[in-house]
Amino acid sequence: MHGLMQDWPLTVDRILDHARDWHGGRQVVTRSLEGPIVRQTYDETASRARRLSNALLAHGIGPGDRVATLGFNTARHMEAWYGTMGIGAVCHTLNPRLHPDQLAYIIGHAGDRLILADPVAAPLLAAVLPRTQVEQVVWMADAAPDAPGIAFEDFIAGQSDACAWGGFDERTAAGLCYTSGTTGEPKGVLYSHRSNVLHTLMVLQADVMDLSARDVVLAVVPMFHANGWGLPFSCPAVGAKLVLPGVKMDPASLCELINGEGVTFSAAVPTIWGALLQHLDATGTKLPTLKRVVIGGALCPPALIDGFRDRHGIEVRHGWGMTETSPLGVVNTPDADGGAPAQRYKQGRPPFGIELRVTDEDDRPLPHDGRTPGKLKARGAAVSEAYYGLEEPILDADGFFDTGDIAAIDPAGFVQITDRAKDLIKSGGEWISSVEIEGLVAAHPKVELAAVIGLPHPRWDERPLLAVKLRPGEAASPEDMLAVLEGRIARWWTPDEVVFVDDIPLGPTGKVDKKLVRARFEGHKLSSITETTR
Ligand code: ADP
Repeated sequence: MHGLMQDWPLTVDRILDHARDWHGGRQVVTRSLEGPIVRQTYDETASRARRLSNALLAHGIGPGDRVATLGFNTARHMEAWYGTMGIGAVCHTLNPRLHPDQLAYIIGHAGDRLILADPVAAPLLAAVLPRTQVEQVVWMADAAPDAPGIAFEDFIAGQSDACAWGGFDERTAAGLCYTSGTTGEPKGVLYSHRSNVLHTLMVLQADVMDLSARDVVLAVVPMFHANGWGLPFSCPAVGAKLVLPGVKMDPASLCELINGEGVTFSAAVPTIWGALLQHLDATGTKLPTLKRVVIGGALCPPALIDGFRDRHGIEVRHGWGMTETSPLGVVNTPDADGGAPAQRYKQGRPPFGIELRVTDEDDRPLPHDGRTPGKLKARGAAVSEAYYGLEEPILDADGFFDTGDIAAIDPAGFVQITDRAKDLIKSGGEWISSVEIEGLVAAHPKVELAAVIGLPHPRWDERPLLAVKLRPGEAASPEDMLAVLEGRIARWWTPDEVVFVDDIPLGPTGKVDKKLVRARFEGHKLSSITETTR
């Protein structure tokens, strides 16, 4: 017997319309690419997004067509999302930090017909566009740069703000985002309206982001990175004021926005927050309105969690997720009693809406004893079931997606990511977690960034090398670095060599790029300073 409730398609256009109807005067604030901070309301945003929809329709864009964006977080970028998705076209977010070859591949693979781009990306696009099928560039700025294409304002000029959004199946594709591709070419994750709406409801749970109409949200995490962690959906869904930093994500610019706009909540990767914490400590800047930040996308070093809480009274919620999970997977919000100290730095528990398990090599579930790491797998309404344009099945017999991460789950349900499968270091048949060592070393006050990789070793197959970038003006010895690990890891995990480097390469989403670190040390012979430790 079917229930007798309405069939109300879960499509994302309803989110912005909800904001327009019930929180129409709430602001979307942007640090514009031109420089000044500009303000508009959700009402204006919905109206401008519809004018863009009409301009896209006039260009011949229809349901299922791919429209790309290549830009930082701005109100126009948000209008591009809703203007595209509202008419059933697919919004493909491109990462402006990608290599031109990779960008050309992705644009070609997705079959993008039109690109809305920031003018700062003009040189990049000049190198890429001739190799693609893109018909039109729309510049997300007041005026077009000296490059082919039309300015956003000219594109939507004369268009009506009446446009029927939605009216299609909730399973219709809404967004496309390519993962950086740990092996082989990048792979396209194709979000649906339904998955985005359900993901929005998951993100809004009190134990996840806990957003409300009283919040002012600084969306630092880029909109081209895994759905912008859903913030362009969850903020309008509750009428939170949304603050978009544009291209300037340096600590001083972020502090100015936080204090100028009264930001209460923010989200970003650890590298951004690490730099911000350093800035606060060095300058004495205070952020009195900021209550909560979600840090994820890479391991959040314990020192960052403690530093924000103890010195600045800001709650850090550590989270794990990935492009394929929309991206929310788990978030660490302690129980009422504050949680056990051992749980404080883990990645956290899943909200309702996603199921997780760890399995062995044969896909058999492993116990939640906090000690047995295995393959972390996910199943849920906002988890990928296949990649765009690829035939291979990616789910196991139980319908779980293998995240490629290795994790242990403790009896209280807290997930700890011990590594990415491909970053584990295999020494003498046993595994060493690079992530865990990096987290400990990053806590050293002189350390800015740390990366641990495995290098070939004649006796043990692989042994760890620790590369460290010190903070400006600091000096330290390899022994200082190893002292941090003393007693905190198994002795045989101790890196064989510590190398101080001027720079540790970051990937396009601001995380340490292990592929590049490995490439840099290719052929390097480990000079074992800790030969006796095993
Ligand atoms: P990529 O980093 O390849 O661009 P994603 O942005 O989807 O792809 O990143 C997802 C990956 O980032 C996860 O599979 C995991 O390896 C890593 N990650 C995300 N959050 C955390 C975290 N809190 N701790 C450790 N690793 C994390």
